[in-house]
Amino acid sequence: MNYFSSDFKLGILGGGQLGKMLLTETRKFDIQTYILDPSDEAPSQFGATKFFRGSLMDFDTVYQFGKMVNLLTIEIENVNLDALDKLEEEGLPVYPSPKTLRLIQNKGCQKDFYVQNNIPTSPHQRYVDLNDLRKSLEKDELEFPFVWKCAQFGYDGNGVKVCRSALDLVKLPNVECIAEEMVPFKNELAVIVVRSVSGEVKTYPVVEMEFHPEANQVEYVICPARIDEKVAQKATEIALKVSQAFNHVGLLAVEMFQTEDDEILVNEVAPRPHNSGHYSIEASYTSQFENHLRAILDLPLGNTNSKVAGIMVNLVGEEGFSGQVIYENIEKIMAIDGVTPHIYGKRETRPFRKMGHVTIVNENMDEARKIAEEVKNSIRVISV
Ligand code: ADP
Repeated sequence: MNYFSSDFKLGILGGGQLGKMLLTETRKFDIQTYILDPSDEAPSQFGATKFFRGSLMDFDTVYQFGKMVNLLTIEIENVNLDALDKLEEEGLPVYPSPKTLRLIQNKGCQKDFYVQNNIPTSPHQRYVDLNDLRKSLEKDELEFPFVWKCAQFGYDGNGVKVCRSALDLVKLPNVECIAEEMVPFKNELAVIVVRSVSGEVKTYPVVEMEFHPEANQVEYVICPARIDEKVAQKATEIALKVSQAFNHVGLLAVEMFQTEDDEILVNEVAPRPHNSGHYSIEASYTSQFENHLRAILDLPLGNTNSKVAGIMVNLVGEEGFSGQVIYENIEKIMAIDGVTPHIYGKRETRPFRKMGHVTIVNENMDEARKIAEEVKNSIRVISV
C-alpha cells in the first residue's frame, strides 16, 4: 500500500498531546490523518488533515469514524471496543487490536493476564466493588497495607490509593477494583517495545522514572536508567515477553518496579506512545511516535538507540493556579543548551494538569540531570 502523498487515510482515536506528537510524524511523511476527539480544545485539532468532534465511547460515532479511514490506531485506551470489533470484523486493520485493548482497559483483567502468562507481577485480588473488598478484609482474606486501584478509567495515579488502615477506604468510590500487594521498590522503570505488523521487534533503552510524591505523576524520566546492566537486561527481556504475550502491534510501554532485591515486577502497560518515551523526540535516532507509525503501517522500524542522554521533565499546572496559562521563565530555560520545551496547546491550566514537557539532552548524564533540576526549579505553569 502506498501511504505517502496518497489517498490513504490513517484514523486516530483521541486528539490529546500524544495525537499531536504523532501528527508531527504523519506530516513529515505526508500521510493523511483523521482525528476523533470529544473536546473542541483538543491539542491535535490543527495538525490533522480532518478533525472530528465526537465521543470516543459512543458506538455509532466510533464506527462511522472508522468507516472513513483505511487503518485505525488510538492514543487513549478508553474507546468503544464494540465498534472496533465490528470494524475489524469488516476488514479494517485496527492496531492495537480491540482484544488487547479489552485486556488492558480493565486492571483486573490485565493482572490476570500477567499471571496466566507467567509474567512477574505483584499478587492481586479482584473485587466487584468496595463493599466486596470490605467483606474480604472482615474475613481476613485481605490485610493492610495494600494498594487499591479502580479497575477502569483511572489515569496518572488518580485511581490508585495506598491503604494502610480502614480510614483510607472512607473516600474511595464504590466501583470495581483490585487490591495489590505493596511493592517495596527502589526504582520505577519502563521499556518501550515496538513491534510491526509482520513481527519486526525493537526495544528502546530502559528508562527510570521519578514520581512527584503527592500527585503521583512522573516528574523526571531519565534515559538511560542509571541501573546495573544485568537489571536492564532483565527488564528488557520481561518487556519483550509482555509484548509477545499480547501479540502486540505498535508501541507497548511496559512499566515495571525494580524491587529491593533487584527483581523486576510488571506494574502495567500502555499500548500506545507513552510519557516515558517523550525524551526520544530529541534524544533518539527515531522517536517513539515515528516508530509507532512505522510499526502499524508495517514499514521497517527505525533505530531505537539514543544519540545522547535524555531527561524529560513534565510541565504540570502549579497548585493554586487555574485559568489562562502562562509559562513563567520559559525564555530562561530555553537559553540553556539542549533544552526544548513542548507545549501541548491547552489554554487553561489547573493544578497538576499535564500542560507540556521539557526535554534536556546532553552528552553527559550528570550534566543533563543537573540541568533538568534547574529547569524544574525555574519554569512554572501558572495563570494570568
Ligand atoms: P496509573 O494507571 O494511574 O498510572 P499505576 O498502576 O501506574 O496507576 O500506579 C500509580 C503509581 O502508584 C505507580 O507509579 C507507583 O508509584 C504506585 N504503585 C502502583 N502499584 C503499586 C504497588 N503494587 N506497590 C507500590 N506502589 C505502587
